[in-house]
Amino acid sequence: MGILDRFSKKKDATVADRARDADPVPDLPAAEAAAEPKSLFARFRQGLKKTSQLLNTDIRDLFKSEGQLVDDDFLRRLFALLIRTDMGTGPATEIRDEIQREFRGRVAVMEDVLDRVKARLLALMEQETRPIELVDKGPTVILVVGVNGSGKTTSIAKLTNLFTSQGKKVVLGAGDTFRAAAVEQLTVWAGRTGAEIIKGKQGADPASVAHRAVAHTLETSADVCILDTAGRLQTQKNLMDELAKIRRVIRNQIPDAPHEVILVLDATAGQNGLSQAKGFSEAVECTGVVLAKLDGTAKGGVVIPIRQQFKIPVKYVGVGEKVEDLALFAPQQFVEALFSDTPRGEEQKGNSHQK
Ligand code: GDP
Ligand code: MG
Repeated sequence: MGILDRFSKKKDATVADRARDADPVPDLPAAEAAAEPKSLFARFRQGLKKTSQLLNTDIRDLFKSEGQLVDDDFLRRLFALLIRTDMGTGPATEIRDEIQREFRGRVAVMEDVLDRVKARLLALMEQETRPIELVDKGPTVILVVGVNGSGKTTSIAKLTNLFTSQGKKVVLGAGDTFRAAAVEQLTVWAGRTGAEIIKGKQGADPASVAHRAVAHTLETSADVCILDTAGRLQTQKNLMDELAKIRRVIRNQIPDAPHEVILVLDATAGQNGLSQAKGFSEAVECTGVVLAKLDGTAKGGVVIPIRQQFKIPVKYVGVGEKVEDLALFAPQQFVEALFSDTPRGEEQKGNSHQK
């Protein structure tokens, strides 16, 4: 495309154009970009396959090839589809109302309607792309919290992989001492990602494990310390007290630590998972979300209620079980992937949930 074409198109560039222009994201730090061999868009597509099958295939089904009359029945069906992505009734109503305002009583072309839907989705989840940034001086301490089974340990492995692949030295603290299996799981990941791990015996005080992990990080001049935590204890109060204690202990070692408190949310739980996670964000001030298991669900619309209920950025999304299955969250590419064409062959499978 010539420069002139680009300029002349700019004015009415669609979300799709902007997403293509922005892919791969140009403002990524160089090291981060290097660790992203697969484009963000490709990762989102992988993660959003189930959601986009639902949205894309079914929305396309709403349209006849020559255009579609936007009537009450159409608006009702569009609304039902949006709701199934777990974006919530508020956002789905907003989108439907906008389509109603713009197109009702007219025969609309699918692309025009989709562009409106995408633009509104983008506005609803708008945020800047916010990778975890390492502090300039001394190690960066990252505390990872979330409900049991949400994907904390796996997400820690993915983040570790991100940092070690940038040549950073990472120390892990196996703070989920409540379950022996949790320590073993983190030990395996540490081995695979080339990180050191500090553990305690089962039932050991997680704050003491955190303390030793931070001490080891300082002694060995490591760059990053990531602390795993339990997602469930005997009582919710115990758990919240424990997290608060971990915070206090590491703050004594490094005054501005933890530099990040990452809340891991399970996308497959959809909106139902959010109220449970609220407790964590109330007990410890979280700085960002990792939305794990996006690939396992058609509830990808849950990003919107997350953005609305937790006033913190979604930093990364988990799109699979392997260490490289992590994508920096970029709203524009995310929305575009949500409506990207389902590759042939998959469409059949994608349709199987209908009727
Ligand atoms: P934790 O209890 O919060 O530490 O959760 P785990 O990290 O142990 O994860 C629970 C399960 O979810 C494991 O079976 C993981 O393999 C799986 N899991 C975690 N993240 C993802 C993801 O992004 N995609 C998929 N498909 N599975 C995931
Ligand atoms: Mg775990």
